[in-house]
Amino acid sequence: MNTTTVFFRRCENYNNASEMLKKLLMEYSDRFSPGEEVLVKPNMLSPRRVEEAVTTHPMILKTVLEFLLNLRVKPVVGDSPASGTAKSVAQKAGLLEVCEDLRVHLVELDEPIDANGEVYSKIKISKTALTMKVVNVAKLKTHSQMVMTLGVKNTFGCVVGKEKSAWHLRAGTNERFADLLIDVHLLVSPVITVMDGIEGMEGNGPANGIKRFFGLLAVSENAFALDYAIVEALGIDPGVVYTVARSMDRGLVPKFEMDGSWRGTIRLPSTTPVVPVPNPLRNLVRRFVRVPKINTRRCVTCKICENNCPAKAINVDRVSIDYQKCIRCYVCHEVCPEDAIMLVRKLF
Ligand code: SF4
Ligand code: SF4
Repeated sequence: MNTTTVFFRRCENYNNASEMLKKLLMEYSDRFSPGEEVLVKPNMLSPRRVEEAVTTHPMILKTVLEFLLNLRVKPVVGDSPASGTAKSVAQKAGLLEVCEDLRVHLVELDEPIDANGEVYSKIKISKTALTMKVVNVAKLKTHSQMVMTLGVKNTFGCVVGKEKSAWHLRAGTNERFADLLIDVHLLVSPVITVMDGIEGMEGNGPANGIKRFFGLLAVSENAFALDYAIVEALGIDPGVVYTVARSMDRGLVPKFEMDGSWRGTIRLPSTTPVVPVPNPLRNLVRRFVRVPKINTRRCVTCKICENNCPAKAINVDRVSIDYQKCIRCYVCHEVCPEDAIMLVRKLF
């Protein structure tokens, strides 16, 4: 295949997914050589059950691993989750069982190397992700900060540990954070991206939104094209999805052809601007955006939010969030295991 292709297949359930996905993956069999090590990077955001649709479904991971093993490739599965460890997430999400059954190693993406991207330098990316070929296995979900989390954003898990939340502070704005996500994706440069869009999430994703059936299985060698195609098929203005908007601005969405069709709908996060916000108005709009607030009825005082807040704005013991420090990155909402962070309107 010389032209970039985005494959869309309508898939009603995970039982039908394996056969369908294997056929699509065969299109890319010449990209791999026997004996080489390949990192398979699922969405392993946090320790959630498969039924919650936060993480890549075990059936999708199993199919990708079997495809690689049949080619006599040596796959390893890895991620650096936003909360928990690769092992704790994999265990809860049913992914560890798949790895054990197929005798595939599960690794924590650590051992950082300072990598220089087009916009940012010294991005601490896992050595494994930079030195192995990567198969990116993403999940179709909304994202309170970035509007959607698709193929490009999935490789952010190759940035090691707490560096991920620190970048929210360094980047400062959603547009600049999208540039970082794009830099990381270009550095990791996956051979293919698979989208598990059979079940995903709408509303205030990526962890505490509403589970939703979409019925999409998608594959492409180019995640910029894949993400653009999905956003378009969902009827969303590409300009409001930060990674898609910035990748278009940076000339990274190639001309591509579609193989197969699918259309869907999605309820975007309550934090999403209705239309793309022009540059001069961005500071004004940020004064009206939603802010996190601790729901004391749900909170179990685990302090995961406090420990992950890049701005050090949360004090769980005092049930307080310092809105002068808060940069509205919604990491606290993303990592809270109890859905105890509400996103409420506040005018500054
Ligand atoms: S808000 Fe959530 S993450 Fe924060 S302490 Fe409470 S339960 Fe834990
Ligand atoms: S309080 Fe929440 S939204 Fe605000 S900076 Fe901290 S993690 Fe981000």
